[in-house]
Amino acid sequence: MLPHELPEELTALRDTVRDFAQEVVAPTIGELYERDEFPYEIVRRMGELGLFGLPFPERYGGAGGDYFALCLAIEELARVDSSVAITLEAAVSLGAMPIYRFGTEAQRERWLPRLCSGEGLGAFGLTEPGGGSDAGATLTTARLDGDEWVINGSKAFITNSGTDITDLVTVTAVTGPVVEGRKEISSIVVPAGTPGLTVSRRYSKVGWNASDTRELSFADCRVPAENLLGERGRGYAQFLQILDEGRIAIAALATGLAQGCVDESVRYASQREAFGRPIGRNQAVAFKVADMEVRAHLSRLAYYDAAALMLAGRPFKREAAMAKLFSSESAVTNAREATQVHGAYGFMNEFPVARMWRDAKVLEIGEGTSEVQRLLISRDLGL
Ligand SMILES: Cc1cc2nc3c(=O)[nH]c(=O)nc-3n(C[C@H](O)[C@H](O)[C@H](O)COP(=O)(O)OP(=O)(O)OC[C@H]3O[C@@H](n4cnc5c(N)ncnc54)[C@H](O)[C@@H]3O)c2cc1C
Repeated sequence: MLPHELPEELTALRDTVRDFAQEVVAPTIGELYERDEFPYEIVRRMGELGLFGLPFPERYGGAGGDYFALCLAIEELARVDSSVAITLEAAVSLGAMPIYRFGTEAQRERWLPRLCSGEGLGAFGLTEPGGGSDAGATLTTARLDGDEWVINGSKAFITNSGTDITDLVTVTAVTGPVVEGRKEISSIVVPAGTPGLTVSRRYSKVGWNASDTRELSFADCRVPAENLLGERGRGYAQFLQILDEGRIAIAALATGLAQGCVDESVRYASQREAFGRPIGRNQAVAFKVADMEVRAHLSRLAYYDAAALMLAGRPFKREAAMAKLFSSESAVTNAREATQVHGAYGFMNEFPVARMWRDAKVLEIGEGTSEVQRLLISRDLGL
């Protein structure tokens, strides 16, 4: 699959989301970002567009598309704003997808329609205050007591977990003894508002300020036994699968941010004058922008490649890790260079590149740090 080979329905989707980002997101997101406010109205309109249901079958209220369609939408949103893009990415690939992939028919029918419509958001609670990369070190526990799980522990940095429209968070928890050095980890769906679940205030973050990120704590939090997602003890394997896919979606987000930096820099460098001519007429500036375009384009090819392998049912772990690594580092570099092209205005929050600069760094951290991606790639090479 290549960008110039996209079938008509996907180019139509990409163009629709591109217009939506320009017409609906761009005019209002800057203020919401500055006020640390969740973009409820934008999310509502994304729901109307069907973005939250993109990769799910119509019988659950989805659009009947696939994961790649979701990635295209994420890229186009991130080209304008990353808070909105990560809200969609986390809601679909981390919130709804585990229920679709591992849930029973009853669980899918119960949870997916609202998640597909965007009226409700799902979250995924894996990371704990004590660590994220070493996810097998989970300390949160869930004990079966009659026909209920009793959950104790805490989760950190959980996206979409405390909005007014959050429906549920799927958490990983230790549900049994250590066997041959491995903990029994399972995934359990906790509906929002369950007694014993405390949602903290939103973190004060460097970037992604219009997205919702919270710490969650569980104190004898009881949910029905039937909220177990998939087989008991398969939680570790499940989240590895979800994160492999999620890396492609984050790579799409990073590609969008990298491309947004090009858009803003071309516009600014054509207009801003110094020494009697547009600054873009200086090779030192023009070459910066050319290098930014190279990074954005190659990031796109990398995530298209990983998505094509995934959709073909072929191994894609290494390609997903490479796409996530390359695109997130490209996004950081492009954001730094775009800020430089804008001079002092690039340091002013009202300029989109300032927001992009603040938003880029987390891409090298979330859903597996750059070091973790290098670990995955080198292990796959047999090292
Ligand atoms: C805004 C935001 C939103 C998030 N959303 C979610 C979410 O919705 N759900 C969720 O579960 N998590 C979420 N996270 C958490 C994120 O996935 C973790 O932060 C990430 O996995 C890294 O874990 P950590 O922060 O504990 O870093 P650590 O694991 O403590 O790592 C710290 C440093 O050590 C390095 N390191 C660790 N182990 C190794 C090693 N073996 N070799 C080399 N280097 C190593 C890391 O690369 C990193 O540089 C979010 C984080 C942020 C910032």
